[in-house]
Order: sequence, then C-alpha cells, then structure tokens
Amino acid sequence: MKEESITVSDATGYEAIEIFGAREHNLKNLDLSIPRNKLVVITGISGSGKSSLAFDTLYAEGQRRYMESFSAYARSFIGNMERPDVDKINGLSPVISIEQKTTSRNPRSTVGTVTEIYDFFRLLFARAGEAFSYVTGEKMVRQSEDQIIQHLFDNFNQKKISLLAPVVKGRKGHYRELFEEIRKSGFTKVRIDGEITDLVPKMQVDRYKIHDIEIVIDRLLVQEVDRYRISQSVTATLKQGKGIMMVVPHLDKGDGKAQFFSKYLMDPVSGISYDEPAPNMFSFNSPYGACPTCNGLGHIEEITEDSIIPDRALSIAQGGIAPLGEYRDIWIFRTLETLVKKYKGKLATPINELPKECLQVILHGNLESEAKPTLQFQGILKFLQEYNEHGSEYAQDWLQEYKTVRVCPDCQGARLKKESLHFKIDGRNISELANLDLNDLEAW
Ligand SMILES: [Zn+2]
Repeated sequence: MKEESITVSDATGYEAIEIFGAREHNLKNLDLSIPRNKLVVITGISGSGKSSLAFDTLYAEGQRRYMESFSAYARSFIGNMERPDVDKINGLSPVISIEQKTTSRNPRSTVGTVTEIYDFFRLLFARAGEAFSYVTGEKMVRQSEDQIIQHLFDNFNQKKISLLAPVVKGRKGHYRELFEEIRKSGFTKVRIDGEITDLVPKMQVDRYKIHDIEIVIDRLLVQEVDRYRISQSVTATLKQGKGIMMVVPHLDKGDGKAQFFSKYLMDPVSGISYDEPAPNMFSFNSPYGACPTCNGLGHIEEITEDSIIPDRALSIAQGGIAPLGEYRDIWIFRTLETLVKKYKGKLATPINELPKECLQVILHGNLESEAKPTLQFQGILKFLQEYNEHGSEYAQDWLQEYKTVRVCPDCQGARLKKESLHFKIDGRNISELANLDLNDLEAW
C-alpha cells in the first residue's frame, strides 16, 4: 500500500492506523499503516485478503474495543468478542462498517422505495393529497348531510326536485332481483338510463346493455317549511345510495341535468367517486394502487407482428411465424390450416401472398366476428401474449426474442392507477414527486 506523507493528526494522536502482525485468515503476518482522515481503498484480486484486513481485523478490533467500554454486567449479555489475530493496532477510532447490500431483485424497486422515502410520501398523499377527477379534472369534493341540505336551499329554493339514490352505475345486467328488492322496500319509482318509470312486478332491463339505475326516493318542492322532511329524505337517499345521491331539478320542459352529491370524494360533474385515500392506494406494489395494465411495472412486454414474422416470403409451413417453427401435426397448425383454407389458401402459401383479411385473423383473431365456433380463433399475437403472461419460465425464455418492452400506455410509466395519480399536493402527483431530483424535491 502506497503511503503519502502524513500531515494530519487528530484526537487519537496518531497520523495513521498502524497494524502490526495481522494474521487473520490468509493474512501473512502483515505490518502496514493506513493514513487517517483519507479515503483509502483496499484493492486486490479475489482471495488476497481484502475482507480479512478490513472486516475481520480492523472492524473486528474496533467492535471489540467498543464492547469492552461497556460494564461487565452489560457485557454478560452481549458475550465477549474474540480478539482478531493481530499483534497490535494503533490509531484506531470507533469503527463503522457498511456492507454492500444486495437489494432484492424486485423489478418494482426504486431508490425511493429502497430508502423508504417513498413510504412517507404515500402517507403524506393519503393524509394531505387533494383529489381531482380523472374524467373532468374537477376538484373532488365530499359533503356532509348538512352541507348537501344547505346546497339544496341555496340553489333550488322554490323549485321542484327529485332525490335519487344511484344503485347501478354503468353496468350490464337484467337487474330483475334488484327491481324486486327495491319494490319490496316500498319505493314506487326508479330512473332507468335517465327515464323515470313506475316500478312494476317482474320488471327487468336488457341484460346485454349498460345501465344506470337510480331509486327515486322523493319528489318535493324546496321550501323552508319543509326543511325537516327534506332533511329526512336526504338521509334516506344517502342511505340507499351508499353515501351518494343525485338531485334532478324539474324544469318546465322536462328534467334538468342531474347533480351528484357524496359523503365521499366525488366529482360533482361526472359523478365518479374515489375510495377514501389510504397509503396503499399510492403503492405500485399493492393491487389497490398498481396500474392494472402493467401491474405496477410501468412498462409492458409486447409481442409484435414484425418480430414474429421476420420474413414474409416464407409460408407458415416453412416456419414463417417464427415462434411456432416449421409445420408439425399439433393443435395450433391444425387450427391455422382450417383458418387459411377458409380464405382459399394453404399453409404452404407464402405469408405475403395470403389475403390481407386472412393474415389479420391469424394475427389478431376473429372472436368479435360472426365466425362459426369451429372457426373462431383468438389470434397468434394474443395467444403468444397470454402464453407469455401466464406461462412457465420455459415459455418466457421461448418468447424472449419476440418481446419488445414499451412504456405502459395507460400510466405512461407512472406505475399507479389513474385515481392514485389524480391526488395532488401543490399541483404535483406522487409519481411526479418521485421523479424529481433531490434538490428540486427539497425546494418543493
Ligand atoms: Zn401502467
């Protein structure tokens, strides 16, 4: 080890750490001196004794001296540390050893998560984040019953309104049982897809269509003398609507636009609502926070058309669809054969001579079409993609060369679901903060 001339001296009185007769492990009775107050690197080939010198001699001796400073009573709990195999060390101050930590190979880890700074961010956003609607950008609001009632008097005084409790929002189904249940609870009217109708026995709606259904709780004139009745109705509406209610003003020419009110975070314009924020809503390791498209990774692996058909002059039988290889008597080739036949082609036809529509079906499938069940096919790309997502390690390796990684189209790499990304503090969401460099973050 090369030594510079030493000028610095400190509280130990030594200008260097002097080691005499170090014999730990494979150290050969080593004498050396390491300058103090310098950054010193111990380097050498594997097995040359770097760790034996740094950890097993210097650090071990420092630790042992520290332990010896405890009372005999305390030491009886810790046990005595063995003296490293060294004759003498001078100039040693208290020691700290920092070991290289092999972080878990979780692809979701970031500096923020490994250092746990991100955990404090999550807590901060759950407590202090302001929610905005991902539909309209409006600030989400929550209102108490009293505030809702006051709003009715401020905005609809001397006007007729209906109070509606939403029970189905944008979902398919016939809702036979639901209508029956509502009717048995004593309500007489519902609003289905914007139309108020009387509830009748055995009522149902088109099961394949998307519906909005609300119970009509009350129709009333907003006036001061009825304040008590109105507050009773608001309570009942919020109960049926599980914390959410709608108000529809009656205008001369039909009903006005519905307004939403909620005890929870809600967009007053579109009516979408968010769960109450909790720290796990801001975690890309949690299903409550992760972007559902990329599972919180920020990127997706895609199998592309060009990667699986590198040479369009080849036929399918010749291995033109690269991951399938050449023709074999297996399910996938038999399926493709049936499909190609339908377009008057053969598996031996070069891919660039197959009809466009045929290739389209081979790649992207025809499940949406009217094709006969025997001719239905999900498409090679989807097939390989699913195989990749749910497949074994073998499948992963097999498809490796056909995969392209690209930024998640839904979260743009931010890794969280859209609700979580619409909570902001001082105009920034948690992902934007996590991407700031530390100086900018500190300023923020
Ligand atoms: Zn995503």
